[in-house]
Amino acid sequence: MKWVRGEGPGGLEWLCPDWPVPAGFCTAWAQPEGAHWEGEAMQRACEGVAIAAGLGGLEWATLRQIHSTEIKEAKGGGCLGEADGLWTGQPGVALAIQTADCVPLLLMDKGLRRVAAVHAGWRGVWGGIVQLQLQLWLRGGTQPKDIEIALGPSIGPCCYEVDEEMGRRFAQRWGEGVISKPRGMPKPRLHLAEALRLELLSLGLASSQVEAAGVCTFCDRRFHSYRREGGRAGRQLSWVVCRF
Ligand SMILES: [Zn+2]
Repeated sequence: MKWVRGEGPGGLEWLCPDWPVPAGFCTAWAQPEGAHWEGEAMQRACEGVAIAAGLGGLEWATLRQIHSTEIKEAKGGGCLGEADGLWTGQPGVALAIQTADCVPLLLMDKGLRRVAAVHAGWRGVWGGIVQLQLQLWLRGGTQPKDIEIALGPSIGPCCYEVDEEMGRRFAQRWGEGVISKPRGMPKPRLHLAEALRLELLSLGLASSQVEAAGVCTFCDRRFHSYRREGGRAGRQLSWVVCRF
């Protein structure tokens, strides 16, 4: 992934996977009212991304994210209601999700020309939202070799403290490598993005098909972090456009 600086004012920047479709994991460049982006404010934020990225004529599809494993298909723009996964095969439709510590995932099926955006906190990872998205595509004819997945900035193993019981459950499922316990620290740290990456490899994807930003939202102050800022934390946008 490489850093891209947007056009025009606002200082909008994003991490960009090397894909044939426009996509990015934005830094925090504005604080949504009430911490989340909602309704028209979300649409305006998406249009800000489109302007910065020099993309015209898009319809933006979004979600009300609720830490579920629900997935919606976007046939056009607008808020599609409560869910945490979103996909489309409709040319000109752009997908956006918002996060602040959870893992934002962007997915591409370059064979059938479809894209997806998924929000995965620990509940989504544990519940298997990314597996569900992949299974949905595979049942619909996607060839595994055509899939590429990018994991955006999220709270890293340096900062994501969890309780002992949760650490144990994740280690049982994905191995001890997803947990670390720094000396002198009472609680374990969870590497949530690594658990996701291991899950994707166990589903048969090659490591070359799964790219992780490796940026911690808590450490890197260009990003909002729920753990660092608390309940008033803003959100950053991750987006992908179905334009092959
Ligand atoms: Zn960190």
